[in-house]
Amino acid sequence: MSVLNDEPVAAEDAAVVETDILIIGAGPSGLYGAYCAGFRGLRVAVMDVLPQRGGQISAMYPEKPIFDIAGFASVRGRDLVDSLVAQAEAHGTRYLLGHRAVALDYDGDGLPVVRSDRGTAVRAGAVVITGGVGTFTPRPLPAGEDFLGRGQVYFVPDPAAHAGHDVVVVGGGDSAFDWAALLAPVARSVRLVHRTARFRAHRASVAKVQALGIDMLTDSEVSGLYGAAHLEEVEIRHRTTKDTTRLPAQTVVAALGFLADLGPLREWGLTLQARRIAVDTRMATNLPRVFAAGDITDYPGKVRLISVGFGEAATAVNNAATVIDPEAALFPGHSTEKEN
Ligand SMILES: Cc1cc2nc3c(=O)[nH]c(=O)nc-3n(C[C@H](O)[C@H](O)[C@H](O)COP(=O)(O)OP(=O)(O)OC[C@H]3O[C@@H](n4cnc5c(N)ncnc54)[C@H](O)[C@@H]3O)c2cc1C
Repeated sequence: MSVLNDEPVAAEDAAVVETDILIIGAGPSGLYGAYCAGFRGLRVAVMDVLPQRGGQISAMYPEKPIFDIAGFASVRGRDLVDSLVAQAEAHGTRYLLGHRAVALDYDGDGLPVVRSDRGTAVRAGAVVITGGVGTFTPRPLPAGEDFLGRGQVYFVPDPAAHAGHDVVVVGGGDSAFDWAALLAPVARSVRLVHRTARFRAHRASVAKVQALGIDMLTDSEVSGLYGAAHLEEVEIRHRTTKDTTRLPAQTVVAALGFLADLGPLREWGLTLQARRIAVDTRMATNLPRVFAAGDITDYPGKVRLISVGFGEAATAVNNAATVIDPEAALFPGHSTEKEN
């Protein structure tokens, strides 16, 4: 079963968690870092503010095929996340999902202690920050959020949940077009509403939606949501004529983009450049025992791709291992030399 369709993994609320490596961020970089730590026999905990694993992939494009993962001609976002989770599971990984890392201190032995907004303190031999673009929150629908969870959604992790619905997708970017195309086969009707006639989405995504015959209402916006216990109707207003129309809708997908914010990480004393964490060639930050990998890092020549995050996570975790145990070798050994 896909991790995206699972019930949210129960978050731990233990007051204190002890681990060798704490990874902040369960995106692709963090999940691969968890594997690397487990492979070395280190205890690893992964904290993420979101209830699901997979970072940007799970939140924004779970159904999109990805073409630039080494060794895969094409892999669906959701399937890549499932494989990363399974790979990390092989050596045991402890998850603290729904926990936002808010503070970093050091204990009397000089070990980092990260506190979450739920009061959990994680004491670790080293911390690897794989926080991507920070915490991202969906831009709200201007018409209001009264029907959030009662018809209004930001993500479509499970298209079957909207089977037989009249769906209105709001937005003009890739996510809006992807969700529209994804829902077309299961929904009774799909309409796409966008405030202008220009779309940010890739031309191929627009062409796909057009080919599916999805109704596109441009120069328009959602001006009202109506219903009782559940959403029943959406009001659409034309931005020039101001004419309004009410359409039946049991689902409205607000795909208006995200607000990304490094949030509390900005206050930790990390050296930042261009709102990212500066790292050296070991992926070490300026703070003792704190490393970083993936989209959140910056250095000259940085390329922000999943494949680069994988490499950086391996570098960060293996260098962290030598800080936790100065006797440990940097090179972890070849996986082919191990039984699993
Ligand atoms: C539409 C789209 C398509 C893309 N297509 C491709 C592609 O084809 N190929 C490619 O290589 N890349 C692609 N990317 C980029 C790719 O998704 C990113 O490079 C990748 O997700 C970065 O992984 P990451 O693990 O570093 O960070 P993220 O995936 O951003 O994960 C970071 C995680 O950290 C968590 N977090 C942040 N701050 C905190 C905190 N304080 N406490 C707890 N948790 C925190 C976040 O909730 C998040 O889950 C695409 C991106 C988008 C948006």
